[in-house]
Amino acid sequence: MSVESVQVAVRVRPFNSRETGQNSTCIIRMNGPTTYITNPDDGNEKDFNFDYSYWSHDGFIVDENGYNTSKGAEPSKFGGVYADQQAVYDSLGAQVLENAWAGFNCCLFAYGQTGSGKSYSFVGYGANKGIIPQVCAKVFEAKEQMESANLQIQVYVSMLEIYNEKLRDLLMPQKEQKELKIRNDKKLGTYVEGLKRAAVGSYKEIEKCIDTGTNSRTVASTQMNATSSRAHTVVTIRVVQTVTEEGRKKELGSDLNLIDLAGSERAESTGATGDRLKEGAAINQSLSALGNVITALAEQANNPKKKVFIPFRNSKLTQLLQNALGGNSKTIMCCALSPADINFEETLSTLRCAGRALRAPFGRNSRAIRLRNSLTRLLLPQVRRPREADQAGGGGAGEPDR
Ligand code: ADP
Ligand code: MG
Repeated sequence: MSVESVQVAVRVRPFNSRETGQNSTCIIRMNGPTTYITNPDDGNEKDFNFDYSYWSHDGFIVDENGYNTSKGAEPSKFGGVYADQQAVYDSLGAQVLENAWAGFNCCLFAYGQTGSGKSYSFVGYGANKGIIPQVCAKVFEAKEQMESANLQIQVYVSMLEIYNEKLRDLLMPQKEQKELKIRNDKKLGTYVEGLKRAAVGSYKEIEKCIDTGTNSRTVASTQMNATSSRAHTVVTIRVVQTVTEEGRKKELGSDLNLIDLAGSERAESTGATGDRLKEGAAINQSLSALGNVITALAEQANNPKKKVFIPFRNSKLTQLLQNALGGNSKTIMCCALSPADINFEETLSTLRCAGRALRAPFGRNSRAIRLRNSLTRLLLPQVRRPREADQAGGGGAGEPDR
């Protein structure tokens, strides 16, 4: 696992009722980190290697709390052991948090067709809590354990959505909302002017904030997904560690950007008309801009001597993600897949985009590294989780810089 590059994960969900109703067949199988997709027309199979391939299609039971678990279920013949929400958090969410404690900005985004399972992985439903609530819970657990007279931790949350190429602050009361502007600053990088940043002191408080934000999101029903989100939602959790050393205070701040992207979809499969069609066009436009940025970054990585133009400014989404994608942050892409033959084209295009992202260069934030170097010595004993501390030279983000 390279710490410099983007990490890419894919996850395949169970059939939904629409797919079951159409007697769909499953065209995905997985083996370790490799995902295979079969073209239902000619039976040809393609394979893609990722950092993680999560099998969440079958091989699970729903326990008495409504939680989907592999415990007590037969592993799947096509994908092995079912990856539950905990497994996904342990490999993706935990990394994000470790990066944050080490002073990196992080960007974790969910990509894929509408109804493919992005919100399920990120936010979750009922007892199956997704990465965002789990990260939030862990931040406060760690805060309690790590805080001392010399180390204070403050957590802030902000939440916005990009809907039809306009940015809206989801933590502001509806009446006070106005369109937000993205600004570029030589020192600060890209930021959103006037975005509310709420200081939160407990899991309950952060949960309340995110619930408020989630409720004011723009969602609309399409045939593919009754609660399909029509906007990109960005939750940013800012963690600031303040160390007091010989009476002097030093600060190490990291932004965790958790981005639940709206899905791309073809108009004919969703039955969209009028406003829905217009939304679809805006979503597709920003997702294709994201795809183009990723392609350009990959080209740059393959041709280090060439100066490749990276078209960040072609959409609000890529403008906003400029820091995250352009080398100022650690980035993890989580791609959600439908298992069904009827979605072959969309799923293949998601896999291709995920494959391209793997080759894109995602660098380190040099400012964070400098800060981190000056604080690592002080923070490391608390930052390292016991498991990492036992593994000398394990290559985790909590390691001192090499
Ligand atoms: P998206 O956000 O990509 O539009 P959702 O996350 O809302 O899609 O998922 C669509 C439906 O599929 C939801 O009803 C969700 O509960 C279900 N689903 C998605 N992923 C999984 C999964 N891994 N396990 C069980 N159900 C899932
Ligand atoms: Mg969603």
